[in-house]
Amino acid sequence: MTRSSVSNENRLKEVQVGQEDELSLIPAWSVVLSIIVFGAVQYLFHVVMPHHKHEMLPMRLLMGYSWGTAFASYVLLVGYVSRDVKRRRMPAGLWMLIVVLMPGGIGAVVYFLLRQPLLRPCPHCSTEIASSCHFCPQCQFQMAPVCGRCFRGVQITDVYCTQCGHDLAEDQAPARLRAYSD
Ligand SMILES: [Zn+2]
Ligand SMILES: [Zn+2]
Repeated sequence: MTRSSVSNENRLKEVQVGQEDELSLIPAWSVVLSIIVFGAVQYLFHVVMPHHKHEMLPMRLLMGYSWGTAFASYVLLVGYVSRDVKRRRMPAGLWMLIVVLMPGGIGAVVYFLLRQPLLRPCPHCSTEIASSCHFCPQCQFQMAPVCGRCFRGVQITDVYCTQCGHDLAEDQAPARLRAYSD
């Protein structure tokens, strides 16, 4: 195996770890519940509601489908929030109450506006730190590629810093980032 194919493989792994599958956060109970809710809305529109006029059928199909989808998606969203709130170390009970009880999905909007940044453990000392940090505040472990002069974040493919023009090739890359340098 050539060196570049090894580094490509590393790069692929890094990308896969980076995009932790957000959809897999949705718990099974909320998927089941959303299917039940969708079914219940169809039942409401086609069985419970009185329908004498036959020509209203397309309208009823459309309304049943759109309300069913809206409610089912909201159940999935509540399921997602119930997991997301825990991995961000926010008070789960309080936020679930806000998301479920505030009308018209406003609770969910408030949640996505106010949620804390995702925490991840430092690979060196396991301190939980915000994913936006460039260095660990406890052990100085470098978490992201940065410019050696202004210490702002850079892309691993950049040759010069976009903020100060520093030649990034002059920097000493940490060992775990050296795979990207070729
Ligand atoms: Zn650390
Ligand atoms: Zn710079």
